[in-house]
Amino acid sequence: MIGVTENLRIVSDLLHSAAIEAGRDPAGVRLLAVSKKQPLEKIREAHAGGQCDFGENFVQEGVEKIETLADLDLTWHFIGHLQSNKTRVVAEYFDWVHTIDKLKTARRLSEQRPDKLPPLNVCLQVNVDDEDSKSGVLPAAVPELAAACAELSGLRLRGLMCLPAIRDDFEEQRKPFATLRELRNQITQSGIEMDTLSMGMTADYRAAIFECATIVRIGTALFGARN
Ligand SMILES: *Cc1c(COP(=O)(O)O)cnc(C)c1O
Repeated sequence: MIGVTENLRIVSDLLHSAAIEAGRDPAGVRLLAVSKKQPLEKIREAHAGGQCDFGENFVQEGVEKIETLADLDLTWHFIGHLQSNKTRVVAEYFDWVHTIDKLKTARRLSEQRPDKLPPLNVCLQVNVDDEDSKSGVLPAAVPELAAACAELSGLRLRGLMCLPAIRDDFEEQRKPFATLRELRNQITQSGIEMDTLSMGMTADYRAAIFECATIVRIGTALFGARN
């Protein structure tokens, strides 16, 4: 059986090659290891292999892991749907939130971010497919939300995130990522700073890297199937 250490090497090589192929500096693509529903030992193994960024989708599970692994120097990203009554623990425990889609949630996180911690890094989740079932803010509403979030002192607006519907074809996979990239460019040109495009998972990381992803969120390819 191939372990996490070997998978980490394989995935890192794949991201590196995709960046080169896309004409990009591989250092501009950061791997976020999605550890939801994965045991602590696998996180420790990934960390021993040099991985520092981990993503969790569920508040309780994430907080328990952060507390148990407090002896390691890890950066924790919240990437699940965030209910506004769960913001306090997220503001207290996590380093990043990728899934902001309401000003109310952003305001609460900002107010609840402890003073002793640096501002919480946030990305706005964009509903690039315009599907009713998906969370995220519609593209047309993103500039206004970005401008409002940039004003919140407990937050540091880092960029945009998306989770498009699964597509098989590479060129089709690129389209929603291109939409996110163009939206980011439009907003930065208006004078709001953002350095992050959080996009791409095990099935579509390559298309995301071709469209300038700076963070790719990989679970299955690193840790195997989830329970
Ligand atoms: C689970 C999840 C991932 C990782 O998905 P894989 O297909 O296992 O790589 C990435 N992003 C989000 C938001 C997720 O919920």
